[in-house]
This record gives sequence, structure tokens and C-alpha cells, in this order.
Amino acid sequence: MPPNARAAAFARMPALRDALGKRYPKMRNAKVNAVSPQRRLKNDLILISALLCVLLLAGLCLLFLQKEGDTVSVSVNGELYGRYSIYEDRVVEISANGGSNRLVIRDGKAFIEAADCPDGICAAHRPISGTRQSIVCLPHGVVISIVRVGDADAPDVVV
Ligand SMILES: [Zn+2]
Repeated sequence: MPPNARAAAFARMPALRDALGKRYPKMRNAKVNAVSPQRRLKNDLILISALLCVLLLAGLCLLFLQKEGDTVSVSVNGELYGRYSIYEDRVVEISANGGSNRLVIRDGKAFIEAADCPDGICAAHRPISGTRQSIVCLPHGVVISIVRVGDADAPDVVV
């Protein structure tokens, strides 16, 4: 069909619909592409469950990637400050860049109990215990992270 003939056919369509509508009054009221509320709800449910599946898969991936760590690694200005076993409870006073952070290792978790940095973000961080978790104190240049000794990036030294 040549383009102008197609355009003419489209132009005739309202007239066609009106003609049909006179003959079949129900059709006149029918909306084009109308989706019933039930159908829309079903589509929404499908979309929501698909999203939930994706979230669940992502969560599972994270769980598998995150291994149990055995060592708390502390670095200041990007340099190793100390490594401590996560299984031995202790308190480490870290002095860095004119400030101090009190690192507490307790019950297999590490957290900053107190710090005199201006933002206090490190002290507000929840305790960490798994690899790939870390607490950062930007003002003091302190990074607390959990590693597994034996992993490629961790030397076999536990202080
Ligand atoms: Zn801090």
C-alpha cells in the first residue's frame, strides 16, 4: 500500500468507527487498547514478583561472595596500621592524623566505639564481621576492614 493510500485509510477510520458504532452501539463505547483492571493487576503482580526474584538473586549472590572474615585489618593513610584476630576481644586506640578512633573487637565483630572526628560517621557505623565490609573514617584516614588471612590480598600476619 503506498504511503498516501495508507494515510487516506487511516483518515477514513473515524468515519468507519462511527458507521460501525451506529450499527453496534456497544462497540462505540469500547476503548481502543483498554486493559481491564483485573488484567492490569495481574500484570502488576507479575512485574512485582519478577522484581522480587531479581532482588532475591542479588541478595544470594552477595551472601555467597561475602565470606566470614577472621582478621580485622586497620590501615591509616592507606598504609597497614595493624591486624588483629576477630576472635580475640580487644580495644585498639588508633591515633591517626591528629585524632583518635577507639576500635573495639568483640564477639567476632569490629566497630568504632568512639572517635573525635568531626563527622562521627565511623562511630555510627554498625559492627562489621564479613569480608567486603569496612568502616571508614575519612577525617582521620582510617579504614577498618575484615579480611581472611590466607586470601591473596592478606599477608599471613596476625598481630
Ligand atoms: Zn570518623
